[in-house]
Amino acid sequence: MVYRIGVDIGGTKIAAGLLDDNLDFVAISSIPFMRVGGEAVSAAVAAQIRGLLAEAGIGEQALQSIGVAVPGSLDAQEAVVLDAHNLGFHGEPLRAQMQAHFPAIPVYLANDANAAALGELHKGAFVGCQTAALLTLGTGLGGGLILNGRMFNGGRGNGIEVGHTVLVDGGEPCTCGIHGCSEAYCSATALIREANRALRANPAGMLHKETGGDPARMTAKLAIDCAKAGDAAAKQVFDAYVGHLGSVVVSIIHMLDPEVIAIGGGVCRAGDFLFDPLREDVRAKCFFGSYAKICAAQLGNEAGIIGAAMLHYNKAR
Ligand SMILES: [Zn+2]
Repeated sequence: MVYRIGVDIGGTKIAAGLLDDNLDFVAISSIPFMRVGGEAVSAAVAAQIRGLLAEAGIGEQALQSIGVAVPGSLDAQEAVVLDAHNLGFHGEPLRAQMQAHFPAIPVYLANDANAAALGELHKGAFVGCQTAALLTLGTGLGGGLILNGRMFNGGRGNGIEVGHTVLVDGGEPCTCGIHGCSEAYCSATALIREANRALRANPAGMLHKETGGDPARMTAKLAIDCAKAGDAAAKQVFDAYVGHLGSVVVSIIHMLDPEVIAIGGGVCRAGDFLFDPLREDVRAKCFFGSYAKICAAQLGNEAGIIGAAMLHYNKAR
C-alpha cells in the first residue's frame, strides 16, 4: 500500500489528510492557521503530518509524496509562494521549507483552486474527463481547470483566474482593483451586496424583515431562502445573479468546450433552485448544440486535500 499526504493551507485553518491508494482518508486533522511566516507554518504542518502517521501507525517510508495547496500564486517552478494574501506569504520558499522536514519524500505545491480541480478529477465530478472546469462560489469566485487530463496552471504558472475575467466593462468594483470582474457578480459576496441593496430599497420586504433591517446580518443563504419563499425583490436579485453566472459558464464553454463544469461553494447548497435556472440560462446563451454537463462539485472542503495528495501523479505523467 502506498500512502500520500495532502495539505490544504487556508487563512483560518490548515487541513491535512493521509490518503491510501484508493484515495480514502486513513487519517485527517485540522489545526489553526497562524500568520507566523513560512518557516514556522512548515514546522507546524510537519508536526501535523507526523501526527497523522502516528495515528495511523504508518512509517514515513511508506509515503509516496506530500502535496500542499495554498490560496495564492506560485512561481513557474512551483517552489515559491509568490503571493498568498490571506496567509501573509509573499515570496515564501514553501517547498524547500517543507522539504527540509522530509528530505526523502517529494514535496509539491499548487494553488488551492487548481488542486481542488485535480481532486475532482481523481475522485469527484471530473472522473473520466479530459477537460473540465471547476468554479467555486464563495467569498470570491475561484476557478480550476483540467486540460487534456491534467491540472492546468497556465502557460506561465498564473492560470487560471476566472474570477478576474471582466464580465461587465466598468462595472462593480472588484477586490483586485479592476471594475466589472466576474467575481464582483458571481461570488457569494456579490449576492450579499445585491441583496442588501434590495433590502434598503424595500423596507417592507422579506429581506428587511429577516435581517431586522441590518445589512450585517445578510447571508447568501438568507438571500436565497427569501428568493425561494417568493419575495419579489430577493427573486430579482437571485435571477440577476444566475444570469451573470450563466454568462461566465457560457464563456468557459465557448472558450474550452469542456466535458463537465462543476460548481462548488456555499451558494451551491441552493441545489436545483440554482442549477435548474442556471442550465436554462446557459442553454439560451450557448450556440453549441451539445455542451458541457453542468453539475455540483462533489468533494466539498476535501477537494483541496485530495488534489494536493495527487500532485505527485499530476507531475509524474
Ligand atoms: Zn477582479
